[in-house]
Amino acid sequence: MKSTLTLAALAAAFAAPAIAQTATGQTATGAPSLEAQADMAAESDAIAWDFVEGITTEVGPRQAGTEAEKRGRDWAVAWLRANGFRNVADEPFEMDTWIPGGVHRARVLGDFAQDLVIQPLGNSASTGADGIEAEVVYFPSFADLEAAPAAAVRGKIAFVSHAMKPSMDGSHYGYFGEARFSGPGIAAAKGAAGIVIRSIGTDYHRNPHTGVIRFPDGVEPIPAGALTLPDAENLARMFERAEGRPIRMRLTLTPERIGTQVSGNVVGEIVGRDPSLPPVLLACHIDSWWNSPGAFDDGAGCAIAAAAAKNVEATGTPLRTIRVLFAGAEEVGLLGSVAYSEAHIDEPIGVAFESDFGADRIWRFESNFRDSNPDLHARLAASVARFGVADSTIVASGGADINIARDQDTAIIDLQQDGTRYFDFHHTPDDTLDKIDPEQLRQNVAVWTQIAGILANYEGTIRPK
Ligand code: ZN
Ligand code: ZN
Repeated sequence: MKSTLTLAALAAAFAAPAIAQTATGQTATGAPSLEAQADMAAESDAIAWDFVEGITTEVGPRQAGTEAEKRGRDWAVAWLRANGFRNVADEPFEMDTWIPGGVHRARVLGDFAQDLVIQPLGNSASTGADGIEAEVVYFPSFADLEAAPAAAVRGKIAFVSHAMKPSMDGSHYGYFGEARFSGPGIAAAKGAAGIVIRSIGTDYHRNPHTGVIRFPDGVEPIPAGALTLPDAENLARMFERAEGRPIRMRLTLTPERIGTQVSGNVVGEIVGRDPSLPPVLLACHIDSWWNSPGAFDDGAGCAIAAAAAKNVEATGTPLRTIRVLFAGAEEVGLLGSVAYSEAHIDEPIGVAFESDFGADRIWRFESNFRDSNPDLHARLAASVARFGVADSTIVASGGADINIARDQDTAIIDLQQDGTRYFDFHHTPDDTLDKIDPEQLRQNVAVWTQIAGILANYEGTIRPK
């Protein structure tokens, strides 16, 4: 233990860059100061754009457990190596894998006969190639489905709507998203033949929003699909005009389970001057849904994390190692995040944060050490005020890909992005590069650079217990 401390002290003494700063924004070593580098990132960072432009162009959709996700990981490994990251690896884990299949149809029969636009939800069962035909039962809200007696649902196709609206903090997703997260499991437990939901989204394009379903243990999955908002509203109007007459639907969804496949977590490091100090972990996820090129979700997140790490390195080798984690198989249930925590639980993390809410501007800073390390919290909050980021008393809980930080009960930061537009594109074919506003992407990189740079050069315990 003593020798470790001595080595660390020696390393710090010989390798620490001078902190005196000249009037030109340079440190005495000639490297830009952290503040100057973050300001530069806000003006002209090209690293994040290079990443997200590259992965959406060269790879596109990256469904977990498939060869497309593997190509995404290979692309990310090559990008990290080409950009000077060290200890780059693709850490494999196995997963039970669901794929969407090729036939997705919802046809209303009888008086209002027409096709509605539908896509399967992740973990949906198959109807078989011939589809199923059943009466549709309409629930205007998730609560209506919950309250319905099983007899009203049994043997029918449940149709669940909701009133999700855009919200800056994305909180409507958690609230109205229950129609997707839990609705299919509840309908299945009540004996439904299938379920169609109004997409958990906020746009009026005819793009269904997919996403994962949680079927409870012991509940047999049923076919489950998402209708676009225009199609869901059309179906609701049919119920008004039908005045009680039954509406029937032929539903065909052909997803498959293809057994155990390999996914992986891509990691890379900017190695710090004192590897004995717990690293700064910057996370995102590399997978997307099969129907989505994953520009906002979450190519941009990986781009922001990687660009921030490079920008901090440009100010001089940081004290702590900065590790990027591009998690695999997030969309289908945080499998990469869980696998990473299991594999690395004995390696303490100093602090972790994640980007997985698009690429629009960061507007609020949160930590989980405001009480235990108020000076550091205040310093971090003050450092990003010039980028329009507000301080907050909310306790950061972290995103999907940093399970390890929660499992280790360590320091977490949330850099909250403006999610007003996010659910216009989320899990749809519209999640494409052109939706990313380069100026807002650069603001993200600037804020991440500033925060990661302070933390990577912080000597003390970030979150004292
Ligand atoms: Zn995501
Ligand atoms: Zn997602």
